Amino acid sequence: MTHGTYNPYTIAQYQFDKVADLLELDDGVRQLLRQPMREYHFSIPVRMDDGTVRVFNGFRVQHNDARGPAKGGIRFHPMETIDTVRALSMWMTWKCAVVDIPLGGGKGGVICDPHQLSLREQEQICRGWVRQIAKNVGPWSDVPAPDVMTNGQHMLWMLDEFETIHGGRFPGFITGKPLGSGGSQGRTEATGYGVVYVLATALDEMGIAIDKTTASIQGFGNVAQYAARLYTQLGGKVLAISCWDQHDMTSYTYRKKSGVNVIELQDIADKFGSIDKKRASDLGYELLPGDAWLEQDVDILIPAAIESQIHLDNVDNIAPGVKVIAEGANGPTTPEADEVLQQRNILTLPDFLTNAGGVTCSYFEQVQCNTNYFWDKNEVLQKLEKSMTSSYIAVGDVARRQKISMRDAAYVIAINRVAKAVQARGWA
Ligand code: NAD
Repeated sequence: MTHGTYNPYTIAQYQFDKVADLLELDDGVRQLLRQPMREYHFSIPVRMDDGTVRVFNGFRVQHNDARGPAKGGIRFHPMETIDTVRALSMWMTWKCAVVDIPLGGGKGGVICDPHQLSLREQEQICRGWVRQIAKNVGPWSDVPAPDVMTNGQHMLWMLDEFETIHGGRFPGFITGKPLGSGGSQGRTEATGYGVVYVLATALDEMGIAIDKTTASIQGFGNVAQYAARLYTQLGGKVLAISCWDQHDMTSYTYRKKSGVNVIELQDIADKFGSIDKKRASDLGYELLPGDAWLEQDVDILIPAAIESQIHLDNVDNIAPGVKVIAEGANGPTTPEADEVLQQRNILTLPDFLTNAGGVTCSYFEQVQCNTNYFWDKNEVLQKLEKSMTSSYIAVGDVARRQKISMRDAAYVIAINRVAKAVQARGWA
C-alpha cells in the first residue's frame, strides 16, 4: 500500500482492515467499525483581544460508543484536520477496549495555534467549542479530555460552560481536570508512566535490565516528560530529546551523551513542551537537527510527539542497536515503516496499548467524581500499573499464540471486544 502524505485516517483504516481480514469479521460489523458513527463540524466565533472577530473551526468525532460513552481528548493545533481527528477517535475505541474500560472512542479538535492566542482568547475558544456541541456530549454520551496543546485549565473552562448550559454540577463530563476541581491524583503522570510500565514489563520479558538501557525520545510535552522521569528513576539513561521550536518553526534534538537531566530540562521548557535552545546549550546540551533523535545509538526509542514520525524515508536511519520502540504518541509509525521494524526484529509496543495510561486514569477520574470519593496518588498509580501490565501481558500472549505482531494482537483483542458489544446490542 502507499499512503502519499501519511493520512492518519487511511492508516487507521488500513490497520483495522488487516486485522478484520484476519478475524474474518462479519461484513456489517466491519462496515460499522471502519468509520466513525457520528461527527460534528462547527464554527466558533471569538471576539479577539483587538476587538475583531475570528472564526475557528472545531470538530468532535464519535467513532463508536457500543462499550460505553465515547472518550477522547481535544487538540488545539494549527494543522489539525478532520481525518486526523477521525483516526484518533478510532484509535480511542481500540485503546479503551484493549485495556478493557467501559468507554468508547471519540476525539475533538480546534484548528488554532495557542502560541498566538492570549489566555482570554483560548478561554473563549473552549467555551465556544462547548456551546456548539453541549447537547451531543456529556457524562452519559461523550467525555472529552486534554490532548496536544490543551491542559487542565482548558478542561475546567469547558466544564464550567457545560455546567452553565445544563444547570448543575457534572464533574464526569470531562477529565484531566486540575486537582481540587474534580481532577485525579496521578492524571498528569498517567500517560507517560503508563508507557514506562509497559516498556519495563517488555524489557523484563526480554531479559534486559532497564537500568542498563539507553533511550532517545521525540517530544517533551506531557507524555514525554513523565515517561522520561519514570524511565530515569528506574535507572535508564535518556541520551537525546527532540522537540518543536516555535521561534524557528522547526524541531531540534537536544543531546547529552552522559544522560540528560529531565528535571533540569523541564525547568527550561515552556508550557507547550519546547526547550529553550540558548539555556540548553549553556547547560552543555548539543543542539542537533530535529530528526536526529531517531538516529541515536540507543536501546529504546520513544516517539511521544505527533503522528507519522517514523516512515519509509527515515526508518532505515534507526541505529542497529535499537531493540524496542515504545509508542507514546498516537500513530507515530506508518504501516510501511512498521513492516521494516518487524523485519528488523525491533519490538514495537503499539500506541493504543502503550499510551493507554491516560485514558485509564481518566476513567479512574470519572469513577472518583461519580462516587465523590478521591483516592491518594499511590492508590491511583498502583491501579494504573496493574491495568497497564496485565493488558500488555494479554496482548503478548495473543501475539505469541497467533505469531502476529504486538500491534495486530492488540487489534485482535480490541476489535473482538467492540464487535461483541456491537453485535450484542443488535447494531450489526
Ligand atoms: P504536548 O502538546 O504536551 O507535547 C507535544 C510535544 O511534541 C512538545 O514537546 C512539542 O514540542 C513536540 N513536538 C511537536 N511537533 C514536533 C516535531 N515535529 N518534532 C519534534 N517534537 C515535536 O502533547 P502530549 O499530551 O504530550 O501528547 C503527545 C502525543 O501523545 C500525541 O500524539 C498525543 O495524541 C498522545 N497522547 C497523549 C495523551 C495525554 O494524556 N496527554 C494520552 C495518550 C496519547
